[in-house]
Amino acid sequence: MDRCPGRRPGPLSPPLPPAGAGRGTSRRSAGTLVRGALLSLAFVCFTVSSAAPTGAASRQQPAAPGVDAAREAESTAAGHERQDSAAAVNSAAAIPAPPPAASGPLVARDARLAGDAQRTRLVIDLDRAVEFRVFILANPYRVVLDLPDVQFALKPDVATRRRGLVSALRFGVFAPGKARMVLEATGPVAVDRAYVLDATADEPARLVIDLVASDAETVARAATATPPAAPSPARPAAAADGDDRPVIVLDPGHGGIDSGTTGYSAFTEKTIVLETALALREKLEKSGAYRVVMTRSTDTFVALGERVRIARANRAALFVSLHADALARGDGKATGASVYTLSETASDADAARLAESENKADLIAGVDLSDESDAVAGILVELAHRETRAFSSLFARTLVGAMKTEIRTHRSPLKSAGFRVLRAHDVPSVLVELGYMSSPEDRKQLTSEAWRERLAGAAARAIDAFFAARGLNRTAPAAPESPAAIVSR
Ligand SMILES: [Zn+2]
Repeated sequence: MDRCPGRRPGPLSPPLPPAGAGRGTSRRSAGTLVRGALLSLAFVCFTVSSAAPTGAASRQQPAAPGVDAAREAESTAAGHERQDSAAAVNSAAAIPAPPPAASGPLVARDARLAGDAQRTRLVIDLDRAVEFRVFILANPYRVVLDLPDVQFALKPDVATRRRGLVSALRFGVFAPGKARMVLEATGPVAVDRAYVLDATADEPARLVIDLVASDAETVARAATATPPAAPSPARPAAAADGDDRPVIVLDPGHGGIDSGTTGYSAFTEKTIVLETALALREKLEKSGAYRVVMTRSTDTFVALGERVRIARANRAALFVSLHADALARGDGKATGASVYTLSETASDADAARLAESENKADLIAGVDLSDESDAVAGILVELAHRETRAFSSLFARTLVGAMKTEIRTHRSPLKSAGFRVLRAHDVPSVLVELGYMSSPEDRKQLTSEAWRERLAGAAARAIDAFFAARGLNRTAPAAPESPAAIVSR
């Protein structure tokens, strides 16, 4: 318990104003707060410790320097405060359901940042008060705010807001019934205070988080505690007895809090790849030849490792991950679809850049990766069975051949790199980049239903040919085209 950092007020703690009456915590002593929090997950120590001194002593919060007058109200609405950060942290192990009085989905309507590089405040306007938990991750520094089933109805520009200690902000579904907001920090930060204010006649309910600049050592000490694990969505049901059809796992990339790339447009990669995967699923299921499993079929986050686990748990005969690429402005005008397989060394610099970017999905969603030991692509490839790699390559070639007849492909469409999502050593796996969101022509295609149909048709044809070549296509119509015939077109 004593390794719980900062139980005493540290130099970063603001001076304590005189005690006030807060109905959220007035029944608890500081000792109760700290003891209660220490009983829950170790990682919460960090937040509790920084919050306990002020949380226990006062309902008045010092305003962040630079916070404008309108926002002052958020720091001095003492009588309306519903809970302070210590209370919030006490709920860290499990976020309770909203109070019984609540009805309908909880909606977040605005989010604002105020302050400077020493002290930055985040304020979220909500329909009503909410339970929450907040914690810090390092490498890179992030502030993660977990909420129950909150719907984000925020203005589109909210995600691009940056101020003080916050350089970027993301939000969305993290797991069924769980929402998350991730603030990218400019450096080491600590949560000084976090609390919810009830709605008043003039103001909606607000969730307020005060961040203060910290140092790497303090954050690292806190990070030795265990952060919450990535969500594990319910596993798809195992095959029914006697169903020996090949299992195809379709993996629409990103989702929920992780939007993927936008290519400077209003479209998000997560939506485009989900719609494409659903079209392909429909086509494959219609044939009756396969059992199709989706790693996600809604707008929710799924960790990279979980996608691989879904493929392996279902004994997939093929894993197809769908993504869309984007180049930074001024980085050329590439267009067209590409198919990637796993390799120790990237086939070119572009493939290396892409794999690095796609591998960041978990980090973007605020998942702690410090215990991931298999990040080195070389280890992954050694683990992959020679046969799996050969089948992955065969399917990649087959797919490119089929796609070339239907949609625009990249000028060198077969590539390889160290994608984490392709690491199942016993499941032939490919990752398809459907096109470039940064290209206006590609974007037009990617968002068109007709294009999706053509792509799904080509992919289904390639899948038929692939399984026919392996002698696994048991119920598909006789004599599908051979992979060689498609590739040679
Ligand atoms: Zn992607």
